[in-house]
Amino acid sequence: MKKIVLASGNKGKLKEFAQLFATMNIEVVPQSEFDVPEAEETGLTFVENAIIKARNAAKYTGLPAIADDSGIEVDALQGRPGIYSARFAGADATDRDNLHLLLEHLQDKPTAERTARYQCLLVYMEHENDPTPLISQASWEGRILPAPIGDGGFGYDPIFWVNETQCSSAELSPEQKHAISHRGKALQKFMAQFSSNEQ
Ligand code: IMP
Repeated sequence: MKKIVLASGNKGKLKEFAQLFATMNIEVVPQSEFDVPEAEETGLTFVENAIIKARNAAKYTGLPAIADDSGIEVDALQGRPGIYSARFAGADATDRDNLHLLLEHLQDKPTAERTARYQCLLVYMEHENDPTPLISQASWEGRILPAPIGDGGFGYDPIFWVNETQCSSAELSPEQKHAISHRGKALQKFMAQFSSNEQ
């Protein structure tokens, strides 16, 4: 059975990837099962950081690797926090610190100027030196609420208003979110490319 290493320790992501690849008889193993040192995300774009993470996982395991990099872009902040979403309020910031800092930055902004989107980049590399990684990208449009609503999801979800469902992304069930989110859509696109490559 073919194995792919996932360059993330996130249990939610592992479950999503494992379910999709299982349909193709491929096992997804988290990099925490190997001795993989954390890669430093030194890129200036989502795609660079996803490549850095996938290459690192492939290098230390000898297996094909998949990585994702994601974040939120706020138009009024010229796309910030973007690739710095997880560390917006500092290297050790919690989701709560980051979310409150974002609210502070947008304090006086009217609804029309609070547009934002989540971005997700997925990268798959057959091996450490793969010169043609598979890359898929998707985004999810919304806007930043003036205060948190809902307690599901993670990260910026309580302040991300979803136009399609007229609620915050923290009010969606995991299944509802997966069907329309940046990550869910990037995964669907990725699987289409991956399965046609495997045939
Ligand atoms: P990473 O891709 O796991 O490095 O995540 C980057 C950061 O972007 C997370 O720590 C969150 O702050 C933010 N983020 C990415 N996707 C989501 C999402 O679906 N909901 C809320 N926050 C997200």
